[in-house]
Amino acid sequence: MSKIKITLTALLSVFLLETCTRVPITGRRQTNLLPETELMAMALTNYNQVLSESKIISTGANATSVKNAGERISSAVTKYMNSHGYSKRIANYQWQFNLIDDPTVNAWCMPGGKVAFYTGILPICADENGVAVVMGHEIAHAIARHGNERMSQGLLLEMGGVALDVATMTKPDQTRQLFQLAYGVGANLGVMLPFSRKHESEADRMGLIFMAMAGYDPHEAPKFWERMSALGGSRPPQILSTHPDPEKRVEAMNKNMAEAMKYYKPAGS
Ligand SMILES: [Zn+2]
Repeated sequence: MSKIKITLTALLSVFLLETCTRVPITGRRQTNLLPETELMAMALTNYNQVLSESKIISTGANATSVKNAGERISSAVTKYMNSHGYSKRIANYQWQFNLIDDPTVNAWCMPGGKVAFYTGILPICADENGVAVVMGHEIAHAIARHGNERMSQGLLLEMGGVALDVATMTKPDQTRQLFQLAYGVGANLGVMLPFSRKHESEADRMGLIFMAMAGYDPHEAPKFWERMSALGGSRPPQILSTHPDPEKRVEAMNKNMAEAMKYYKPAGS
């Protein structure tokens, strides 16, 4: 093989490694991801801005639930990722879990492990187990890089596929807006912004496993979604209107339950 050919092959394999990866747990192939380091930098700026504009609740039972669930799930996930060849995916993650005083039914996790819960979702969570359901689901979105896929799509649709750093430089406001939409950030959305059905079912499946790894019984997850669905009434939260069949969601979770239970280690055992 000529030297040039070897170099080309090496370059190509680096390129493929960079552009095509697989989602942990599900093994789904991902292409055209944006540089995660750039998204993490954006996340840090956006996260700090959200925190500075919000009323943070840092003491009391609710804040403790959010921090507990966050710390238990993130350390279980970190351990799993490091021992299954995915350490790169969480490199430079610096987890943070904050509870924001806001009636919006929302929660999200930005790349880098920046998590926010809004008090509006807590009544549906009911207790720390319910918080763990949402926490597992949101962390799953981040680990699976769903926001990255959405941001990449957004740049393609709205800015003709320009590189992220160029978009940030030339159209900072629009880029920031895209970012916030991609990660479901913001109280003004009124409801938890839904990801696509494909992303939702992937996050549901991974979320069950993540909470189980941390010692939370994954059977709490279908219960949470049933409560969310019951909350509907005459004006169901948007998350339900865009996922018109919450029963199917619960059904899928019950199907994935046996897989999740393989990871379940009850706390203290
Ligand atoms: Zn979701």
